[in-house]
Amino acid sequence: MPSFVELEKVSKLYDGSGGRPVKALDEVSLRVEAGEWIAIMGPSGSGKTTLLNLLGCLDQPSSGAVRINQVETSALSRAELARFRTETVGFVFQQFHLVPHLTALENVMLAQYFHSMTDEAEARGALERVGLAERAGHLPSQLSGGEQQRVSIARALVNDPKIILADEPTGNLDAPNEQIVLNLLTDLHAQGRTILMVTHDDQVGRCADVRVDLEHGRIVETTVFSFEQNQDFDEVLEQLWIAREAAQHIESAHFTEAQHRKLLAQMARIGLVVLDGQRVGFTPPGEERARSVIRRHRLAERLFMDVLAIRDETSVESNACTFEHILSPEVTDRICTFLGHPTECPHGSPIPAGVCCREGRASAGLDLPGCLAHLERR
Ligand code: ADP
Ligand code: MG
Repeated sequence: MPSFVELEKVSKLYDGSGGRPVKALDEVSLRVEAGEWIAIMGPSGSGKTTLLNLLGCLDQPSSGAVRINQVETSALSRAELARFRTETVGFVFQQFHLVPHLTALENVMLAQYFHSMTDEAEARGALERVGLAERAGHLPSQLSGGEQQRVSIARALVNDPKIILADEPTGNLDAPNEQIVLNLLTDLHAQGRTILMVTHDDQVGRCADVRVDLEHGRIVETTVFSFEQNQDFDEVLEQLWIAREAAQHIESAHFTEAQHRKLLAQMARIGLVVLDGQRVGFTPPGEERARSVIRRHRLAERLFMDVLAIRDETSVESNACTFEHILSPEVTDRICTFLGHPTECPHGSPIPAGVCCREGRASAGLDLPGCLAHLERR
């Protein structure tokens, strides 16, 4: 299934000093789903702005493909590209780039003019939405940095863009204004817009769903932040683990076929699985994560059934499903040690060993029947 934004082996070369080319981007592949908020991070010179400019059709790749909404941007003429850009993309820059001798309102109306036609009421509405109704008649020099950035967000929204591209949108702002701008971006995200944002700041980056780290023009790491998304990934990893254990295909009860396919595509994108036609395999990090989820789940089951004497299967299952997402490695090892490093869950499936088991299983930790007797006496 095509993603909303797709970069395929995109490279960008610039002429460097002394005729030596500079590789600003080096075969970058990236997929962004509609409605996702991506933070692009990395040291200065790692290619962040270059990447954003390619996505915003301000520039063309030296090689590779950029597809937005299934349109291959390299196939567009200059005029088509300009049209596509004004219809699809909204830009927010670190330096605001407002026209100094135009008021806030006129800056927004100028963007309307480039898009289609000016509409003062609509422009005022856009300023109102960023909390600047009172400042419509002010020049940029009469506005604080935070206010100027809000004007530029209002300006970015005039064409009702599907994608917001923001290059260090909070880079020149103090903490309170940074928060205001992040709140505005959070609202836009909630409205279903796709946001690609370059930032240096870890805290700012955490507002996104996914963080992509660039170094020397290459993606070196992709991190997913949303708890719900990570929970879904864990769910799929667990199913894959169990399917492998049972040497059979297990139908997913949690997701529809389409959701399952989409999740697998996302998991392939961040390096948890490899897809080969209909076949799905773990990558080493994916396998490690699956092993850890399974271990937490099965240890939680043992804890609930053996120690807390919960016999109701549904309750055990739903509690184990919650615990598997929230147990830290340390607490998991403590539970494992407390239970005497069990090797099987109450249903007879193997519990993957943890670091604690290597020493623990040898010296057989706890006397479980004794412990149960003790609990029952209380
Ligand atoms: P970042 O935004 O991560 O700081 P850039 O994308 O601006 O990085 O730049 C990546 C690399 O490409 C840098 O080495 C930079 O010097 C070089 N570069 C960027 N734009 C140009 C250009 N127009 N001409 C020549 N080199 C450029
Ligand atoms: Mg930059």
